Amino acid sequence: MNGYGGSILRVNLTSGKITKEPTPAALARDFIGGRGFGAYFLFKEVPKNADPLGPENKLIISSGPLSGLMIPGAGKCDFTTKSPLTGGYASASLGGLFTAELKYAGLDSIILEGISPKPVYLFVDDDKIELRDASDIWGKGTITLEKEFKDKFGEEFQVAVIGLGGENGVSYASINHDYGRQAGRGGVGTVMGVKKVKAIVVHGTRSIPVADLEGYRKAGMALFKACKDAEGLKEWQTYGTTIVTSWCDEVGALPTRNFSAGSFEGGKTLYGPVMRKEIVVTDKGCFGCPSPCGKYSRMKRYNSNVEGPEYETIGMIGSNLGIADIQDVAQANLLCDELGIDTISAGSAIGWAMECYEKGIFTKKDTDGLELKFGNAEAAFKMIEKIARREGLGALLAEGVKKASQKVGKGSEKFAIHVKGMEQSAYATHNATAMLLAYMTCDVGAHHNRAWAITYDLQVGRDQVVPEKVARVIWLQNFRPMFDVLGACRLQWVELAIDRDLYVPALEAITGIHRTWEDLEKVGERIWNLTRLYWAREKEGFGREWDLPSPRFYEEPPKTGVTAGQITRFEDVQKLLDMYYEQRGWSAQGMPMPETVKRLGLEAFAA
Ligand code: SF4
Repeated sequence: MNGYGGSILRVNLTSGKITKEPTPAALARDFIGGRGFGAYFLFKEVPKNADPLGPENKLIISSGPLSGLMIPGAGKCDFTTKSPLTGGYASASLGGLFTAELKYAGLDSIILEGISPKPVYLFVDDDKIELRDASDIWGKGTITLEKEFKDKFGEEFQVAVIGLGGENGVSYASINHDYGRQAGRGGVGTVMGVKKVKAIVVHGTRSIPVADLEGYRKAGMALFKACKDAEGLKEWQTYGTTIVTSWCDEVGALPTRNFSAGSFEGGKTLYGPVMRKEIVVTDKGCFGCPSPCGKYSRMKRYNSNVEGPEYETIGMIGSNLGIADIQDVAQANLLCDELGIDTISAGSAIGWAMECYEKGIFTKKDTDGLELKFGNAEAAFKMIEKIARREGLGALLAEGVKKASQKVGKGSEKFAIHVKGMEQSAYATHNATAMLLAYMTCDVGAHHNRAWAITYDLQVGRDQVVPEKVARVIWLQNFRPMFDVLGACRLQWVELAIDRDLYVPALEAITGIHRTWEDLEKVGERIWNLTRLYWAREKEGFGREWDLPSPRFYEEPPKTGVTAGQITRFEDVQKLLDMYYEQRGWSAQGMPMPETVKRLGLEAFAA
């Protein structure tokens, strides 16, 4: 099949049986790849009410039809599972070089099933596929172990690995790769850990079949040329995602002290140019990337190096914890990476705990003697370690802010910043209604990458509650995740503003199938509705209540910063949902209506 590796690899960890099956053509037609494959397999193969940490749950790792080909940033890999953090749908995207090797090994997906009786790692070298004993590497850090694997097998082998967080069942453990890239959100590393899979090591030498080689070459070259000629290339490459730190601070979107404000008085020390000057050593990119956003940094004070920090980490572990020193933020980033935990959820959990401490809900007895105040970087480092080891208060924070706040009570639920149990990523949404709606309705919980709508808020008036904003969020949710389906990076479109239509001839030349963006958006809508049906299947009483944001955004206006005194009224939150459900073709409770299900060809799933 043109554009595909051709096989799905199933690894039953309970029995040790490894099988390959051809990638179904109908699956490629209806769900295309990546996140589409993940959603399909999750719904079809993981039974209703399966325990996310039990043998029935699966970890589905999928490339897309662009992955591994000479298309800008075509190195995106999707990890889908039933989330141990939220109990619903989880899908996390990984950059780097892993997915290209997966395709060269002839694989479109790897599906990990069951639970291994002992620690193992999966070794794939073309057709040599084995589960190997990992007892002696269990407990190693992700960066340390990746280096060891590279030394042992060679640089051409790509490694996805979990750390202590995944081994110890931290609900938001990540899967790490390329020394600094993560499939970070929703606990995909937790599921890999409970399955006792320490790492996946992959290398392949096969070619990927392409329908029209010359057409592919031309279309690929046109995409690279557009990136090279883009006006914003130099600035993007210099600063990467940290380009937005100063903007967020200026517009009141930078999470500050557990999202109690959107501007950080110490924020300037975290801005991209300061970071570039103070710690960045070089740029680092994913497979086939003409615009590398990764920054490799050296922290002199700690005599250490890290890939990062990128904006989300700066927001969540910097300003959100009141930490103003970029070296401290980068060091915390390194700890999270080596231990294999998501910086966004970890930053949110520690921010919530700091607020509990400052409000007297926690005392030093609860924090194992730590002065857990905003701005205390040493305390944050120690809490990161404790979370990964599930020690003391770390065991509670390892559950995520929703469960932790439900256990602690005392009003702390009101400042646990999450939607559906997933901690909100680094945009404060006190007065940014499109971005707030994007978080409320995101398919995995409060994550930004499906619909980064905050610039639209600024464009049309941030407190506007109008159908146009809702339509924009829905369009972004249908369109942007398609990059995760195709297996390529979206940032060349987002940040370099390259014409998205340039992807159409490339996809056609590769797969031999003509698809316009309108066709692709319909697939995006199908996947969006499928994952909504999945939540409804798994959560008794799922509906409108689940889409509500943290009360912090409709009850507590910030006291400082440019959004001081501003808030989204609760009636506007409800109005946003009314408009959203109507435009989506969902009921007033947020369920896809029968005609919507039919239009999208999802009858078999709705049943
Ligand atoms: Fe990777 Fe960044 Fe390049 Fe995207 S822009 S492919 S995330 S390095």
